[in-house]
Amino acid sequence: MSKELTKKAVEMLLRGATLLSDPCPYCKGVRVIKDGHALCVSCGKEDMQKVLPKDKEKSEPETPLAKF
Ligand SMILES: [Zn+2]
Repeated sequence: MSKELTKKAVEMLLRGATLLSDPCPYCKGVRVIKDGHALCVSCGKEDMQKVLPKDKEKSEPETPLAKF
């Protein structure tokens, strides 16, 4: 584990990243994830995870009402 990698991971955590429960598929290392961006702190592999939409803003489309 390189110092730069550790630093990066710590910075991600400070910015609100969370530890991934799934280990790194390459080295089984611990990964942190933020905004769908996962970083392995052991080998440095970065992955884009598929992020599920948290809250869909449902805005009703303006329907022009035909009035007289
Ligand atoms: Zn890894």
